[in-house]
Amino acid sequence: MAKQDYYEILGVTKSATQAEIKKAYRKMAIKYHPDKNPDNAEAEEKFKLAAEAYEVLSDENKKARYDQFGHAAFEGGQGGFGGGGAGMNMDDIFSQFGDIFGGAFGGGFGGFGGGGRRQARVKGSNLRIRVKLTLEEIANGVEKKVKVRRKVQAEGVTYKTCTTCNGSGQQMRVTNTILGRMQTATTCGTCHGAGEMLDSKPSGADAQGMVVKEETVSINIPEGVTEGVQLKVGGKGNEAPGNNSIPGDLLVLIEEVKHETLKREGSNIHYDLYINFSEAVLGTSKEIETVTGKVKIKVEAGTQSGKILRLKGKGLPSIEHYGNGDFLIHINVWTPQELTKDQRKFFEEMMGDDNFSPNPQKSDKSFFEKVKDMFS
Ligand SMILES: [Zn+2]
Repeated sequence: MAKQDYYEILGVTKSATQAEIKKAYRKMAIKYHPDKNPDNAEAEEKFKLAAEAYEVLSDENKKARYDQFGHAAFEGGQGGFGGGGAGMNMDDIFSQFGDIFGGAFGGGFGGFGGGGRRQARVKGSNLRIRVKLTLEEIANGVEKKVKVRRKVQAEGVTYKTCTTCNGSGQQMRVTNTILGRMQTATTCGTCHGAGEMLDSKPSGADAQGMVVKEETVSINIPEGVTEGVQLKVGGKGNEAPGNNSIPGDLLVLIEEVKHETLKREGSNIHYDLYINFSEAVLGTSKEIETVTGKVKIKVEAGTQSGKILRLKGKGLPSIEHYGNGDFLIHINVWTPQELTKDQRKFFEEMMGDDNFSPNPQKSDKSFFEKVKDMFS
């Protein structure tokens, strides 16, 4: 597969100045930043490509080599982790170039520490997936098995100490200044600070000795999670090349499936119960399906429409373990809409009956007052 031209990737001409190249890269990095494009493999690839192009074009030596030889300038030879920056992982990009676009995302990507960067433990990039959960699964906690495509080190791949920096991850550069000779440490251009390089790889592996593998990962989802919560499964992201590397993480974004009859409100659950007129007058018992199983409830004789029955602790557990929320049953009395002749006669007779005239007591708060009380 032909590699795309670095100038093309950044959308600049060969005569572009360093300032223009930096500006073009910043634009790309912000556009394809993983925070703005979660779960978007294409954007991640573009983000990496832009970093790769910038890594070469922002360095006058590498740029000159690239101008003369094209991509061939960085192939073969040293055989580090992709020479010209190919296959930089996300953490490398953030630590090397984070300062360029970091401001747009609140910074905090690390960047260079004072006096140059110590050999970094290369970490694989994170993977992101979404998991849909029902209220019942949220109430009880659940183990979910998901299939993920991870980058892993190929079977039989070997890595050795980087021959350019002898494993330190740094190169010393001596420059003559008006103050005399100055030695500065820069990240090793061959291994990008990892201190290791590819030794041998089996066929089928990419330039870093990596292959993509589908794996089933089981995720233990704690009870009480909410929509938008992100869980981290450590070490189940992409692996990185090298013996000293550590794998990235698998980030799991929780989505809640809307329940047909139950409504969630924090850790409380609301349920509308419809009873008929006779049940309201004479009382009844009902079986209610809560998120943790069936519960039998008693509706007292003379129950008013709008009454709320509270099943304490039958709601959802809170993820911070502050105890369970409640299950709230809203009583709705269904008024009959069609009547037989006899029924009509009966209700007509009751029209003026004392027992049928409304007489709300202080204890019979209106529906809205009850709801207000509940949330105050
Ligand atoms: Zn090196």
